[in-house]
Amino acid sequence: ELDDIVAFCGTKVNSQDRTLPQRIEQNVLRYIDLFSSIVDRKSVKSELNSLTQTQNTIFNSQIDENEKRKRELLLRTQENPDTQSQIPPELTRRFNLVFAPRKKMVSIKMRETNAAQIGHLVKLRGVVLRTTVVHPLIQVVTYTCSACHTSVYQAINSRQFIPLTNCPSPVCKTNKTSNTLTLLPRESKFVKYQEVRLQELTGEVPVGHIPRHLTVHLHGELTNQCLPGDLITLTGAFLPLPATGFRRMRMGLLTDTYILGQNIVVERGSLSGKDGATEEELTTEEMDRAIDELKRRQGLLSILTASIAPEIYGHDNVKKAMLLQLVGSPTRITGDGMTIRGDIHLCLMGDPGVAKSQLLKVATTLSPRGVYTTGKGSTGAGLTAAVLRDPVTNQVMLEGGSLVMADNGLCCIDEFDKMDDADKTAIHEVMEQQTVSIAKGGVNTTLNARTAILAAANPAAGRYNRNRTPWENINLPPALLSRFDLLFLLIDQVDDDSDRNTALHITTVHRTLKAPERETGELVSQPVLREYINRAKRIRPVLSDEAAARITQLFVDQRKQESMVQNPQSYTTPRSLLAIVRLSTAFARLDFRTVVDVRDVDEAKTLVDSSQVVLD
Ligand code: ADP
Ligand code: MG
Repeated sequence: ELDDIVAFCGTKVNSQDRTLPQRIEQNVLRYIDLFSSIVDRKSVKSELNSLTQTQNTIFNSQIDENEKRKRELLLRTQENPDTQSQIPPELTRRFNLVFAPRKKMVSIKMRETNAAQIGHLVKLRGVVLRTTVVHPLIQVVTYTCSACHTSVYQAINSRQFIPLTNCPSPVCKTNKTSNTLTLLPRESKFVKYQEVRLQELTGEVPVGHIPRHLTVHLHGELTNQCLPGDLITLTGAFLPLPATGFRRMRMGLLTDTYILGQNIVVERGSLSGKDGATEEELTTEEMDRAIDELKRRQGLLSILTASIAPEIYGHDNVKKAMLLQLVGSPTRITGDGMTIRGDIHLCLMGDPGVAKSQLLKVATTLSPRGVYTTGKGSTGAGLTAAVLRDPVTNQVMLEGGSLVMADNGLCCIDEFDKMDDADKTAIHEVMEQQTVSIAKGGVNTTLNARTAILAAANPAAGRYNRNRTPWENINLPPALLSRFDLLFLLIDQVDDDSDRNTALHITTVHRTLKAPERETGELVSQPVLREYINRAKRIRPVLSDEAAARITQLFVDQRKQESMVQNPQSYTTPRSLLAIVRLSTAFARLDFRTVVDVRDVDEAKTLVDSSQVVLD
């Protein structure tokens, strides 16, 4: 049983050290006291003895010369009864003790951490919001006395410490000699230390609540394991932060807690299911059956499309594009490391009140990691990453913005047009390179932001002005515009039939709280749809020869056509060619095919054309 509780790390243990068994034991027992949930002292003791035996043989040969000399010195002082009591065990300890979670340990939601968990080992999932730089944390300070030349040790257990000034050795004390203590960095002990801020998963935040945050303290080998935006499963002790000095006065109201990290598992790559969602009402078999059934249905694409936001009337092409965006296409990495983006970016531009924001909200709930922000409420740093200084510790911290937090997911940006120009440019890198590079405040790093972007914007004058050209209406910088694979113009037109249908639809939804029956038959429920998208995402289709030929032909034709009309704004670039490739790959994915064929290319082309219908 102990095996899954206790894991040793660190490699340097001196077999000659006679006090080692006791010290390991003390350490373990201390931890056990800490986690009152695991108490079985007797079995721990016997296990420890055998563990120590094996440890000793394993590490016997692994000490280098330098270390040996240091240890000998230490042991000699240890034998001297005068100084023996002064050597803190931390200094001679050559290992770290961490607790690995038991396999069957269930993770709790961050929202559920409360007073009852204090002092216990907890396991939770969260997204890393920010990390500090790793820096050394002093554990034991060693001084040497100028008068009696003995070493003086000071173990540090709290955040602040007052350096010793007078030699406490009996010799100096009785003689009352004047002495100075000099710090010996090489004899002192430092550990790597990092603070990480963890944010609740978006799926777990109840509507109208602010996501909860937790501070995590990481030591030694646990540092530098995660970056902002990573989804991690963390095991650690939930502890109160010891208040010191002035703040001790407020101890009655203990608000500060932290997690002493013990184990981190980073979940990279594609995610399955909604972050932390507890919607697993359907068992796996039921889900398998539902999806198999779905695959066999006629007109699958239109069923799936209709199942996205059925409460919203019309916008079928937009919904289809959203479906493709959610499924995406695989990112390709060439032999020499060049990456070709697979995420599909979408921009919805249109008059106010055509349900753009509503569609964005729906997309966030369908994506495994959906983040919703608005252009007015976010700055460039808020979207990409910010370098902050922690007010308490005065350390430089790196905080991931919305785009980083949506890594491997979808980032919805509403009111895109109302963003400042400087902030818009911050998105350029993310949209093509899928990374966020920052060089400020002494931090130089690149974070992953492999996210698809769904933007919603109003036309230049707030409403679409038919007296102007489409490009005057759209009014986005060409560099940004060309990065969107698809741009939809949603224009509020007066049309008797469609107005009536929309009104009927909206009133029905308002009365019955669900979408009216459609002729396509039964719609797919959200969990099934989400799972379907997830499974489709695992497919990596490649272009067939015919499909590649078709795309080439389309590209050449389009370019030729454009060179004839004088319209400098609308032009087809290799980027638009890649857009077609991505869209057709996504179509193939939706059909669970590993080869992209001509049909997919044609469908993609139709969709692109439909998005570019502009009224005259
Ligand atoms: P926008 O962000 O485009 O300005 P909203 O998404 O805020 O508009 O939509 C305004 C309201 O109108 C929403 O409550 C939405 O449900 C409703 N609405 C607009 N168009 C439709 C539609 N086609 N079907 C159903 N509801 C609609
Ligand atoms: Mg809106």
